[in-house]
Amino acid sequence: MNYILCSEGFRKFFSAIQVNVSEVTEALDLISRNLSLILDEISLGKLVVSMDAPASVYEPDGKKGSREVYCSSDGYEEQQAYQVSFSTGENGTCDVIAYPKKGCSWNQEEENALSFLAQNIFVFCGRARMIGLMQRANVLDNLTGVYNLNGLMRHGQIMLAKGSLSDYVACYCNIKNFKYVNQQVGSRYGDQILKKYSQGITKWQLKDEFLARLGGDNFFALIRKERIESFLSFISSFRVRIKLPDSEKEYAILSRVGICEMEPGDSVSDALDRVTVAIDVARRYSEQDTVWYCAKMSEETMHEKEVSLMFPKALKEREFVVYYQPKVDLQTNQICGSEALVRWMRDGKMVSPLEFIQVLEKEGSICNLDFYVFEQVCRDMREWLDAGLEPVRVSVNFSKVHLRNAKLTEKILEIMARYQLDSKYIEVELTEMSGFSDYDALTRFIDVMKKHGVNTSIDDFGSGYSSLNLLKNLRVDIIKLDKSFLDDIMHNRGEEDEIVIKNIVRMVRELNMEIVAEGVETKEQAEFLKKVQCGMAQGYLFDRPLPKDEYEKRLSSRMYSI
Ligand code: C2E
Ligand code: CA
Ligand code: CA
Repeated sequence: MNYILCSEGFRKFFSAIQVNVSEVTEALDLISRNLSLILDEISLGKLVVSMDAPASVYEPDGKKGSREVYCSSDGYEEQQAYQVSFSTGENGTCDVIAYPKKGCSWNQEEENALSFLAQNIFVFCGRARMIGLMQRANVLDNLTGVYNLNGLMRHGQIMLAKGSLSDYVACYCNIKNFKYVNQQVGSRYGDQILKKYSQGITKWQLKDEFLARLGGDNFFALIRKERIESFLSFISSFRVRIKLPDSEKEYAILSRVGICEMEPGDSVSDALDRVTVAIDVARRYSEQDTVWYCAKMSEETMHEKEVSLMFPKALKEREFVVYYQPKVDLQTNQICGSEALVRWMRDGKMVSPLEFIQVLEKEGSICNLDFYVFEQVCRDMREWLDAGLEPVRVSVNFSKVHLRNAKLTEKILEIMARYQLDSKYIEVELTEMSGFSDYDALTRFIDVMKKHGVNTSIDDFGSGYSSLNLLKNLRVDIIKLDKSFLDDIMHNRGEEDEIVIKNIVRMVRELNMEIVAEGVETKEQAEFLKKVQCGMAQGYLFDRPLPKDEYEKRLSSRMYSI
């Protein structure tokens, strides 16, 4: 029976330290504060606890240090140290060293009590450390040791409560082409890169700045407003050295960054939403790696997401309908062609192509839509021919995105053959050519179409910057004069303007091409065009784009009286 352990002092001491703490230092403070309860019973002169635990993700510097928990003012017997060493489980150690009070030495019962005390100190400190590690694991990323998403949200709430968030700029950083780097060096070394990337940033950051890993190669940083330019230049010249099995390699790490300035009252999740939109814009549409968020982006992104999301099903369920807008021969006032223009019939409402064509172009699915329209035109054309309704040539809009498709011409010809259509009925209208530079692909396409008797036209001539180059170098059959061009000339109808348009028309004709003026709305415009010998016109003056049944009536009547 150990009477010391059953004493009132020990009982009180152990109940006083039964508190949940999450740091070893707090545990030792608690012990230190309550040690007076048992000092006399074990004649304690000095107590030291030292710990040496190796570094880990959650404790990057390990846990090293020695703490004097108690030292009697009357002195202690240095020569009679009682020492126990415990192992922390990850090959670390925890030592408890006790000395008797000056002039005392311990009997067996006291030493037994001391041994029991030492074990409890170790367990108590170990438990505090474990709780701390668990709390950190909950908020820290287990690869890089920076905050994880949960940590970001918690830290963000604390900063929001302090009102300090508006001193910062939020940045979403993503490593460019990390997938390929990972493939090239293997994921083990990819992990090294991620660690070095986050270490590099945290080292650069000030104490009150912040970094979290959102997962993969995605990071979120809060940078003080005045340091953002400096951060961007730091991150744009980031390099890491990686030790491979038989060599060392240095990589330049490029990042995309979506940025937004924090305003008073903004929470971290507001900021996260916005920088996600900005980085999405950087990733998908921008030639720049750094994109600042603006409110318009959210609306556009929402709209684009909605369109992208709904498009495949809508196409499958044939929600897209083809309208036809007649083209008129200005000499005879007769219908001489038409343009197929798509409409999206969504929940009983008609959606204009202006709302979705651009989105589909950006993501490439415009090709599916264009072929859908093309096939519908071929089907309608077959129907008119079979019904004895003499059709006119229909132009179908094809986005420049198609020109990347090596099988484009093959596919067009295959569909025409399937509906047994003479090539004279079809025209391929290449839209939105501004900014297009692959002239070889364009020339090849036009030449193959020409070889098979299919007419090609360039849309919106005069709105793009390379129009004259297109004219000079390409053997297209038809030029469509952009509406804006015509509008300009009609607004301030000077002699110079007449000269310009007259000469364009002449030039096109001399190059053996036809010309169609688009967006003709007034009689004056039509008369002017006729005067300068523009062959064809298309516009509200004659007809709006018509649904199929109305267009069929127009095919029967054919004449316009203006
Ligand atoms: P676009 O190819 O330049 O088509 C002409 C647009 O001008 C049509 O708008 C037409 O309705 C409109 N328009 C015609 N006459 C007049 C007029 O007198 N005054 C005015 N103010 N406008 C006139 P829509 O149908 O809304 O089409 C817009 C654009 O969407 C088209 O411009 C074209 O770039 C694109 N688009 C339409 N259908 C398709 C398609 O099937 N495929 C592709 N790739 N693009 C298409
Ligand atoms: Ca067009
Ligand atoms: Ca046009």
